[in-house]
Amino acid sequence: MFIDHNYIEELLEKAKSATKEDVQRVLNKAKERKGLSNEEVSILLQITDKEQTKEMFNIAGEIKRSIYGNRVVVFAPLYVSDYCVNNCKYCGYKKENEFPRRRLTRKEIQEEVKLLEKMGHKRLAFEAGEDPVNCDMDYILDAIDAVYSTENENGVIRRINVNIAATTVENYKKLKEAKIGTYILFQETYHKPTYEEQHPKSIKGNYEYHLTAFDRAMEAGIDDVGGGVLFGLAEAKFEVMALMMHNAHLEKEHGVGFHTISVPRLKKAEGMDLDMFPHIIDDEMFKKIVTIIRLAVPYVGIILSTRETAEIRKELLQHGVSQISAGSCTGVGGYKEQEMMVKKVDQFIVSDERTPLDILKELIDDGHVPSYCTACYRKGRTGDRFMSLAKSGQIQNVCHPNALMTLMEFALDYGDDEIYNKAETMIKKEVEKIQREDIRNLVKDNLEKLKQGERDLYI
Ligand code: SF4
Ligand code: SF4
Repeated sequence: MFIDHNYIEELLEKAKSATKEDVQRVLNKAKERKGLSNEEVSILLQITDKEQTKEMFNIAGEIKRSIYGNRVVVFAPLYVSDYCVNNCKYCGYKKENEFPRRRLTRKEIQEEVKLLEKMGHKRLAFEAGEDPVNCDMDYILDAIDAVYSTENENGVIRRINVNIAATTVENYKKLKEAKIGTYILFQETYHKPTYEEQHPKSIKGNYEYHLTAFDRAMEAGIDDVGGGVLFGLAEAKFEVMALMMHNAHLEKEHGVGFHTISVPRLKKAEGMDLDMFPHIIDDEMFKKIVTIIRLAVPYVGIILSTRETAEIRKELLQHGVSQISAGSCTGVGGYKEQEMMVKKVDQFIVSDERTPLDILKELIDDGHVPSYCTACYRKGRTGDRFMSLAKSGQIQNVCHPNALMTLMEFALDYGDDEIYNKAETMIKKEVEKIQREDIRNLVKDNLEKLKQGERDLYI
């Protein structure tokens, strides 16, 4: 198996004797934006010196800006089914929690999607529990089709990233045909004994099958896969090392590593107590981890959800995070229930409950360009094609212009006067920063076309 536990433990043990000079050597190497070796990552995980930590945060911010510019991609989750045959100890949807389960009908999915579209969303993370009977692949494919085919007056959802249980090559081929964006699957924990303890007597309890899901997805032709760890289950340093090894494995076997990495932290959920988990990490360690991931795999999208507070999200956007969710409901049918003020069981508790409008205003105030861009997938910039653009830093030549165009679209269709004014001021300033004259002129033209009523313009 490619997550060699002994190797990780040995590296972490050896790194304990790393000196301040060793850490500095790794920080200097990180500035080159070429990524870090396993040994270098293990050294950075030991960082304690305040000045060096500050320097590390700054380097991560610089790397992110040099690759993706100042755009921040915004998305929302859509929970379609809370049926689940598993008993993950940390999750509100576990089988032993008794509550009325449901899966959304096609019509209910369309109602949810219309509410999401009304908020301005164009990019969704599609979520479902694992249940081969109540939520089989046919249901999932139909649900994806229901999302893509739901229109409101301002357009459609343009990209669905799918987060469903590990499955077969055959099923991944079906998902590919259904035109999913990224296939997302969190390993939860790479530490095998902990994995088995946290997933008792269940389909998900098969560590190897879960770990090799991306190999099957890539074999089926899915180009973009998104990994993640649920921080708090096992020792965080071990998890970061293992994440890097998983990425290296995918690069070696399939020519391209993770498209995104998600960094969820364990949160209180129905039927579990945080005291049961001895590896909960505090904010300081969490911030270090996110920045170390940015330094180690500079070109990967890093996703932060509304599990985190507004303050942590604001800070981490400066140090490496490139995508955030906004206005999220983490329960099935949650958007409609939110409208009707009904409260049911959610998968976990959300910490940032602001609306997308409020989040966008803050992003703009902080100098980030909020982006609803979905261009790469639709332009065929996926897999290694995307990665070579990201690794060379050229992705910024499309990210930044697309962010400006989608922000204008948002401000026109979903904004109030305040956001329209903020967006227009930002766009005017940012458009002049586009270096290539032909692209700058194209974007200016497109911004005018958007004001005249055209939509969905991208490069
Ligand atoms: Fe089911 Fe997923 Fe929750 Fe586990 S984490 S209980 S598989 S919904
Ligand atoms: Fe993402 Fe590609 Fe759009 Fe950049 S241009 S925001 S990488 S979809």
